[in-house]
Amino acid sequence: MTTTTIAPEAGAASATNGAGKPDFDAIGIGAGFAGIALIHYLREAGLSVRVFDRASDVGGTWAWNRYPGAATDSESYYYCLTFSKEILQEWKWTQRYPGRAETQAYMRFVVDKCDMMPHIQLNTEITEARYLADKGWWQVTTGTGETFTCKYFVSGMGMISQPEIPAIKGLDTFKGPIFHSSRWPEGLDYAGKRVGVIGAGATSVQMVPELAKTAADVTVFQRTPNYILPAMQRPMTPEWEKEIKDNYEAIIAKCRNHVFGMAFDSPVGRNVLDTPPEERQRIFEENWTGSFRWVFETFDDLLASPEANKLAGDFITSKMKARVNDPELAELLCPTYDDYPLFAKRPPLDHGYLEAFNRDNVHLVDIKKAEPIVEVTETGVRTSKRDFEFDIIVLATGFKAYTGSLEAFPIIGATGQTLNEKWQTVSGSIMGVAVADFPNMFMVTGPQAPFANLPTSIEQNVIWITACIRKMEHEGYATFWPKADAEAAWTKQTADIHAQTLMAQGDKVNSWMMGANRADKGARVLIYFGGANFYYDALDQSAAAGFPELEFR
Ligand code: NAP
Repeated sequence: MTTTTIAPEAGAASATNGAGKPDFDAIGIGAGFAGIALIHYLREAGLSVRVFDRASDVGGTWAWNRYPGAATDSESYYYCLTFSKEILQEWKWTQRYPGRAETQAYMRFVVDKCDMMPHIQLNTEITEARYLADKGWWQVTTGTGETFTCKYFVSGMGMISQPEIPAIKGLDTFKGPIFHSSRWPEGLDYAGKRVGVIGAGATSVQMVPELAKTAADVTVFQRTPNYILPAMQRPMTPEWEKEIKDNYEAIIAKCRNHVFGMAFDSPVGRNVLDTPPEERQRIFEENWTGSFRWVFETFDDLLASPEANKLAGDFITSKMKARVNDPELAELLCPTYDDYPLFAKRPPLDHGYLEAFNRDNVHLVDIKKAEPIVEVTETGVRTSKRDFEFDIIVLATGFKAYTGSLEAFPIIGATGQTLNEKWQTVSGSIMGVAVADFPNMFMVTGPQAPFANLPTSIEQNVIWITACIRKMEHEGYATFWPKADAEAAWTKQTADIHAQTLMAQGDKVNSWMMGANRADKGARVLIYFGGANFYYDALDQSAAAGFPELEFR
């Protein structure tokens, strides 16, 4: 797809400081779920909107993560936007977890069906966003030096999109292709090649079984093992599809009212610690049907009580071990509660990763204890014990979550400070959607929002943003100023909740959920763990009360 060039439209904003009009009422960055939701809701509110994306197609994370085996970990029928009941009925998912291409095709379908392309400018990187104090507008600058102004600036850049490149010596010396997993080269032929994969998180877990089918050899360098849950993929049957489409209102309500924004049947009203061992085992076994459901639809205390969490983790690792032929290898692939509790790192979903290690061409290297990586060489990877030769090296080393994309280029607020500078030690926000000293700027799923089924959170955020903008336009305000005390209160509440959870132990195993995987910044509280449903309630209450966290001028 080529660059879409759109002539600047007249803004429809009614309050523009009396100094003319900006190019657009709203500018968004990121043509993924967030950008699509923004276009829908803001256009419905009568605003002119343009969304920029540096990718060559819509899709956001699904435009970038083109590695073999990439698929959603949420189930298809609730990993989607819900604003159009017609699209929910019309679109046909082919399976339980759609692959990357299918999800991107769905997003293209929504964009085309809703005639959104005129609002989207692809192949355009934004290199700076600056608040213009004299006008009360934002100005964005593109990679070619063009500038556009708007009244409302919205980041929809995604909370897992800025790659974390590891500080391993010699990365630039390798002679073959070496790249981050989210920058998979178009058309790369890995059949018959020796592939080294550094990292063993959710991305590797999806990628390795696919690579193993045709690569000569796949070698995974693992630092920390994961609690790996089975995906249990299955096709969408006509009966299942009918059941879903007959019940979409209930599915949407389930997502809205679930602690992780998922269409799960929980809470279930029972705790593992109150359940006799035999009964517990029966419930664990009966619910072993794939997806994160198992964690939420068995017992309510698995993520709350250390004892319950240990029982759950032990059950998962017993299932993992049963699928790996070599007992020593199985041990290496499995964490224990002493390493870290279940969910202190985000568990991957597995489509054959464990079985891949039963093949002769797939190898695991323990770089935590046995043989740490020393450097990348011209021909491969050198550990403290061996030299490995590769044709291709994949850095499946994760992302600078939540704040990374907002820190990657200067976003300059009212005081002249960038977000990156503001967030040196604490990444504070108001509900993950607004930041003090950054007037008229919104974030979709920014830091201190929950970690949840993303389309659910994205839509809830955009509904709040749109309600705020409607109020401003209706009442004739030029700017909103996020209040510093509201930011301090949300940051404290988020930190207090975080400290009480088992997830807080993620810092000892470099969890991205608290930025503990980053070389450039320290671990911090990035996620509101008070429950996505309570967070959505807080957004609704804020809107109903006229946005008391913001000062309108
Ligand atoms: P990740 O979970 O952060 O895993 C990164 C891996 O790289 C870890 O094994 C980490 O080891 C390793 N690593 C990092 N730096 C290293 C270094 N310097 N030397 C050696 N190893 C290093 O990243 P990810 O697998 O890309 O997944 C990130 C998140 O993206 C997931 O948790 C998930 O939320 C999302 N994701 C979603 C889907 C989906 O829903 N379909 C698919 C893929 C990813 P340590 O663990 O020891 O740090």
